[in-house]
Amino acid sequence: MNQRITLAPGDGIGPEITVAVRSILDAAGCPIDYDEVEIGEKAYLAGHSSGIAPEAWEVLRRNPVLLKGPITTPQGSGYKSLNVTLRKTLGLFANVRPCRTYHPHVATQHPGMDVVVVRENEEDLYAGIEHRQTVDTFQCLKLVSIPGTERIVRYAFEYAKANGRRKVTCLVKDNIMKLTDGLFAETFRRMGAEYPELEQEVQIIDIGTARVATRPERYDVIVTLNLYGDIISDVTAELTGSVGLAGSANIGERISMFEAIHGSAPDIAGRDIANPTALLQSAVMMLVHLGLAEQASAIQNALLRTIEDGFHTADIHRPGSDSQLVGTRAFAEAVVERLGQRPVALPVAEFPNAPAQPLPYRRPEVKRELCGVDFFVCAADSAPDELAARLQKAAEGRMRLKLVTNRGVKVWPEGFPETFCTDHWRCRFVNPAADTTSPEPSYPPVEATLVPELLAALLDAGIEVVKSENLYLFDGQRGFSLGQGE
Ligand code: NAD
Repeated sequence: MNQRITLAPGDGIGPEITVAVRSILDAAGCPIDYDEVEIGEKAYLAGHSSGIAPEAWEVLRRNPVLLKGPITTPQGSGYKSLNVTLRKTLGLFANVRPCRTYHPHVATQHPGMDVVVVRENEEDLYAGIEHRQTVDTFQCLKLVSIPGTERIVRYAFEYAKANGRRKVTCLVKDNIMKLTDGLFAETFRRMGAEYPELEQEVQIIDIGTARVATRPERYDVIVTLNLYGDIISDVTAELTGSVGLAGSANIGERISMFEAIHGSAPDIAGRDIANPTALLQSAVMMLVHLGLAEQASAIQNALLRTIEDGFHTADIHRPGSDSQLVGTRAFAEAVVERLGQRPVALPVAEFPNAPAQPLPYRRPEVKRELCGVDFFVCAADSAPDELAARLQKAAEGRMRLKLVTNRGVKVWPEGFPETFCTDHWRCRFVNPAADTTSPEPSYPPVEATLVPELLAALLDAGIEVVKSENLYLFDGQRGFSLGQGE
């Protein structure tokens, strides 16, 4: 029985590469019916600020996958990014971007590169929760959840296993962000124990990025948080030689979206010169996702053979070489002619019959206890000792002031006069019975009602509180970071 999918040709070169890709899928006998929808520029200009009309939403939510051409985001404010809207609305938690080189047929400095970046797609700094809290200081919340992390890490391991990959590298900054990135690394290590057949490593994102950029051939599957993944997947795509080559998948539990990584290339639109490979690679990932591995492998092998046989679009053609410069249509025809053939030198593709699937999340049972509060205070031109004295006086009989930090650095007690201070202070209050002298102090619980009482007392004392964060223990473990220098 045919499977029904949503097809959105998009803008610029979108329609012509979509026609090319569809001709290849049809020739390969893919059992697919298409519901075509219009998204992008026309929808934006028709007054739909997110680039998609309500009727298109209905189609999109009905079918399990969307094959999407690139779209043009009109210039000017008031237009929301369609990609972000789709990602968040449809719960597309994993962004999967394979980047490989086609040496010696496409010029590259990294002949052996074949990397897949699996990027968390919904959380991290992309939650878009930002505030200006004082005149001096702005904040962006980095949110990392256990279900979000488990889902992406599990998906990366399952993807590696299903696709016969040998190694998974986790990129984090857990030496600095011990709780958020620490959770990511810890989840990776814990789940990794279930995949002993896969080589595993955790690297710090800064040196990891430098190594990916200089020695990409030593990486296989990379799993990482949203922002790092955004950057690292652009680095890997750039290294392959052309943006016209790489496809990507956005995986959700119910609906998934497949698209080229490039944009609508208005500079070459309508001229039959665009490379359809990236959208074709996305379509191949889609076929694997739909359980159509046989057709996916046939198309991928025909594509590799076409590149090997020297049929190259303008973006990868090298004048003077014996490759033949072809347009979009002729390239697609060359792929169709090679269906049933295999590459001679490039590795033959054989996709799995059982694609990676997300698994449901079960929340662990954890005891959560309130043990203090951080009040963030706006105070311009204040000396730390003087501010601390005012805070201590206001808190008397309620909680004990444990420390004051400025931009995360401890400035009281025993701060350094050299530390530069803004008007934004974090003031930590704990139970007066807390032993705060040992290296890992104890945190006895506090009554929840003490927090608003203390807030009222601080306000009464003329202290301007701009925000508070409760401090919790989870099964006795600290759920908050220590101040730098604490
Ligand atoms: P772009 O990727 O469209 O183009 C960058 C360069 O790469 C251009 O020189 C272009 O000609 C070339 N190029 C891109 N795809 C190619 C292909 N398949 N074959 C040959 N050459 C190709 O990026 P841009 O110019 O920054 O953006 C153009 C528009 O696309 C903008 O409106 C942008 O917002 C949008 N965009 C959309 C998506 C998406 O829909 N996922 C992604 C990126 C950019």
